[in-house]
Parts: sequence; structure tokens; C-alpha cells
Amino acid sequence: MMKIGFIGLGNMGLGMAANLVKAGHQVVGFDLSKTAQQSARKGGCEIAKDINTAVKDSDVVIMMLPNGSIVRKVCEEAFFWMVPGTLMIDCSTIDVETARDLVAEARNQQIDMIDAPVSGGVGGAAAGTLTFMCGGTSEAFARAQPILETMGKNIFHAGDAGNGQVAKICNNMLLGIHMIGTCEAFNLAQKLGLDAQTFYDISSTASGQNWSMTSYCPAPGPVESAPSNRDYQPGFTAAMMLKDLRLAQGAARTARTSTPLGAQSEAIYSLMEAAGKDGLDFSGVMKLINGSL
Ligand code: NAD
Repeated sequence: MMKIGFIGLGNMGLGMAANLVKAGHQVVGFDLSKTAQQSARKGGCEIAKDINTAVKDSDVVIMMLPNGSIVRKVCEEAFFWMVPGTLMIDCSTIDVETARDLVAEARNQQIDMIDAPVSGGVGGAAAGTLTFMCGGTSEAFARAQPILETMGKNIFHAGDAGNGQVAKICNNMLLGIHMIGTCEAFNLAQKLGLDAQTFYDISSTASGQNWSMTSYCPAPGPVESAPSNRDYQPGFTAAMMLKDLRLAQGAARTARTSTPLGAQSEAIYSLMEAAGKDGLDFSGVMKLINGSL
């Protein structure tokens, strides 16, 4: 049993912290939101009054926070109170640069740190079936692995610091691109008189086949479990996709490389945001493409 400080008990953090409790760990959580605090208490966490109390004599500290600037701010305080040898795991999705800076700062204070962003969403967090993509030293990863296994099913070591974030944003950029492409194909097929089911039956066994089509079809009908059959209720929101696409574009600029379709995808999901429809599932970009937004 370990003492684990957990900062950020929102939609994702709540389920993750509850799974650590179920595995027998003592979890001391901290969140600015009273509602989050209350839910985490129900999930078996102790609630600290500040960051200092949550991290001070914890063996491990986990963060699940909205963005890089918040993670940086929390780290500034947490690093001050954490003792050398503590393991820090950042599960938030943040920019690659900040992730790398923070791992370097942690190393200066003899804190082992990894970036470990996730995929699998709120359902995966609650069920303990998340995928973790980790960046950091092999030693830090080896320490983190058994803890991550209590919250997830697939745990990958993607290489050095920041590589977890790289894997996450590159995967989601590809997802955004093939979701939009899939929407375009279904829309064009329908406008030309080919119904969604027939196009699905053909394309899902032909070379256009992809995950957005077969697991998450943006056209209502062919895939029963897809958000398109529930008026695009999320799921994974367009706002979250946009966050990841923006991170990917920032990273592409830093790397001085061009991602033309990633840039287009960001622009298209920005239109969802501008229309006030970014609370829809990301497959709801179908409505933008077919003119029903
Ligand atoms: P959320 O907004 O529900 O939770 C974030 C929590 O952090 C909130 O409860 C908020 O009060 C708390 N917080 C903010 N600033 C804080 C501070 N300074 N100190 C302590 N607590 C603070 O967000 P979420 O959906 O749980 O997402 C968390 C992270 O996981 C994000 O980086 C997101 O991109 C990533 N993610 C989310 C999903 C998803 O489906 N929700 C999937 C994969 C990855």
C-alpha cells in the first residue's frame, strides 16, 4: 500500500483515484472544486486542504489537470514540498515543451517524473481500462507501471520525457483527420444518392476502412453504439479534439514541420467552437460537413 497524492479530481481524475483506493492505496486528493472534492470523498479519497498537504509525505503524486500552465503552476508548489525520491506522474494532456521542462526540473530536485497522458475517456477512467502513453526514464517508468496498471489496461513506454504527449497528440491528430475524411465521404455518398448503410457495407470492407468508420461511424445507422445515433451526445467532445489539435499544431511549429491536414482539422473543429457546438461529440463534425449544424 502506498500513499498517493492526487491533484485534479475532475471527470477523469475521479474514476482514476477511486480505482487506486479500490487497489488498497491511501489516496489524498486535492481539487479546487468543492463538487469534485465531495465526489472524490464518496470514492474513498481523503481530501487535503491544499497541495502541500496532498503531496508532503506521499510516495507518489499524480496529476490530472486541464492544461500545461495549470500543471506548471501546481508543479511549482508541489516540487517545493515533495521529498527527493518521490515519483510524480502527470496524466494530463499538455504541450510537449512543458512536459519536457517539468521532467527536467523534477530531476534537479531528485524527483522521478513521467508524462503519462491517457486515452479511453471518462468511461475508461471509471472502469480502469485506460491506455497510458508514457515518457521518461526506464527507471521512472518501471516505478510507475504497477500504479498505472491499477487504472489502465494498456501501458506503453514511448521513450524519453515528453514522448507520451507526442504519442497522444499525434494519435489524436490522425483521429481528427480520418474522422473529418470519413464525414466527407459519407456526406458525398449520400448527396449522390448512395445511402449510409450501403456505403458502409462497401467501404468498411474496402480500402477506405478506418476506425472512425467501423467503431464510431459519424453517419447515423451503421454502428449502433456510435454517438451519431444519439444526436452526437459525447463521448469525446469536439472541444477536447480541438484542444489536442491545437497542441499538435503548437508542437509542429516547435519542430518546424508541416502537418497540412492537421492544420485543416484544427480550422474545421474551430468552426464547431465558433458555432457554439463544440460540446457535441467530435463525430458531430458531420453536421458541419453536411450543413445541418
Ligand atoms: P476536468 O475539467 O473534468 O477536471 C480537471 C480538474 O482539475 C477539475 O476538477 C478542476 O477543478 C481541477 N483543477 C483545475 N485547476 C486546479 C488546480 N490549480 N489545483 C487543483 N485542481 C485543479 O477535466 P478532465 O476531463 O478530467 O480532463 C483532465 C485531463 O485529462 C485533461 O488534460 C484532458 O485533456 C485529459 N483527457 C480527458 C479525457 C476525457 O475524455 N475527459 C480523455 C483523455 C484525456
